[in-house]
Amino acid sequence: MAEQALIGLIGGMSWESSAQYYRLINEGVRDRVGGVASARTLMWSFDFARIEALQHAGDWDALAGELVTAAKALQKGGADFLVLCTNTMHRCAWAIDAAVKIPLLHIADPTAAAIQAAGLTRVGLLGTAFTMEQDFYRGRLEAKFGLEVLIPEARDRAAVHEIIYRELVTGQVLDVSREVYRGVIARLVARGAQGIILGCTEIMLLIGREDSPVPVFDTTTLHAMAAVDRALAGP
Ligand code: GLU
Repeated sequence: MAEQALIGLIGGMSWESSAQYYRLINEGVRDRVGGVASARTLMWSFDFARIEALQHAGDWDALAGELVTAAKALQKGGADFLVLCTNTMHRCAWAIDAAVKIPLLHIADPTAAAIQAAGLTRVGLLGTAFTMEQDFYRGRLEAKFGLEVLIPEARDRAAVHEIIYRELVTGQVLDVSREVYRGVIARLVARGAQGIILGCTEIMLLIGREDSPVPVFDTTTLHAMAAVDRALAGP
């Protein structure tokens, strides 16, 4: 049996989505390899209270330092490549790239590849305010993949962000919030979005394809499946 690469997962942001990664990656390996096969993984899991406080304080230097500590530990533990289980923290992807030799599988790349494979060029982006409003994520989709990225209006962005940090990261999945998201999606589609990126790794807990009149691109699943592909290619 061919040896799998060892996946280094940087998680805990939040653990609710890291648990989904762990499940999806193991299911993906089992589906592809068969039998009792499962994934080879190491996970570093943060206390999200600390991460969330630094995010809202805007201390991205400290956050980059936290991620570098995790990345180095996983590299030392033998990981062949890294998966950062959050869209938002890809703001600090550059610091990981600079600090370790093993590659980081960037979450935006399999997402953009799926959008391109579906033949779409203009997509709406849902995520934290950091992901929607700053350039690190949209910029990569636009510059590297030629996509046009629409973000919700300010009030909708605030609602999407609040639901992530008040509910989804603590495992609360509420019908009333699903309705809010459905409204935000409908307004993006009315502005021309041909697809919707679920650009926060907890949104898949709340929203599925049935909640959108256009295709949804779940970054958690796309990223996890890219990790399976990479792992099965071998160390
Ligand atoms: N998991 C979320 C994301 O994909 C938000 C939590 C975080 O800020 O890391 O952006």
